[in-house]
Amino acid sequence: MVKCITTIEQLHAELNQAYLDHKTIGLVPTMGALHQGHASLIQASSKENDITVVSVFVNPTQFGPNEDFDKYPRTLEADLKLAANNNATIVFAPDIDTLYPSKDPSYLEVLGNVSEVLCAKSRPIHFRGVCTIVAKLFNVVRPTRAYFGQKDAQQVLIIKRMVKDFFIPVELRVMPIIREQDGLALSSRNKYLTNEQRTQALVLSQSLKHVANRFAQGERNVKTLVSEARKIIEQSPIAKIDYVEILALDELEAIDTIENKALMALAVYFGSTRLIDNIILE
Ligand code: AMP
Repeated sequence: MVKCITTIEQLHAELNQAYLDHKTIGLVPTMGALHQGHASLIQASSKENDITVVSVFVNPTQFGPNEDFDKYPRTLEADLKLAANNNATIVFAPDIDTLYPSKDPSYLEVLGNVSEVLCAKSRPIHFRGVCTIVAKLFNVVRPTRAYFGQKDAQQVLIIKRMVKDFFIPVELRVMPIIREQDGLALSSRNKYLTNEQRTQALVLSQSLKHVANRFAQGERNVKTLVSEARKIIEQSPIAKIDYVEILALDELEAIDTIENKALMALAVYFGSTRLIDNIILE
């Protein structure tokens, strides 16, 4: 059975012997409302580590003032079941005061191009909040390995930078995007979609698939690929594009032609729900 722990003291009481015995600890940071995408990270961690800690915490500092912090789905009972079914050892579900003990929060921020492009343009404080909470969780859990999804491609690049720049002793493991059978990338926010929006949202994975095919056939022109992707997305009358971009990996610089590895990433609104998806072109 998985143990649900809410305080840092309890967590350390649970993990102290593991630290002394040099057991490997995998951390899977999540905001809960767990689905099969999260399950794939938990499974990977439980295969590769003696202990798997799944954190469930809706982190206020990564939400902008007009975003969905209040309505974000909170489903701890179901999350505990999913974590247990995927062999997690501990679910760490602290409250806000536990992880933000000071009245004025301190932040950890990664600067530079990776933190300024794509999602950062419409969510200017998002990645500062993500780095801050992930750094806190690393310090609290002290994991051997931490598991993140390629679904949040920019987040992965920024966390890699944070780990490198601050010499954080953790191995990052990045897992592939888990999709529904029809192609929609799993996301806790898919719960917000009406049936109509859910159907229309298929243009996202269709546009990425199209670009992957055109890339495989030899097309390397970024403008051409982006404009073809946009056309597919615009076939949905309710899709409102935030961005569709192809940028060079790993620094996310703008490019005209794909020469090495590139990331095609998009963010599109269906109603008030903003969905993201991506593929790597290489
Ligand atoms: P979240 O709860 O949305 O903050 O996500 C927690 C972790 O699960 C992040 O590392 C996400 O990238 C990852 N994740 C979310 N959706 C998926 C998915 N469809 N496939 C793989 N990983 C995912």
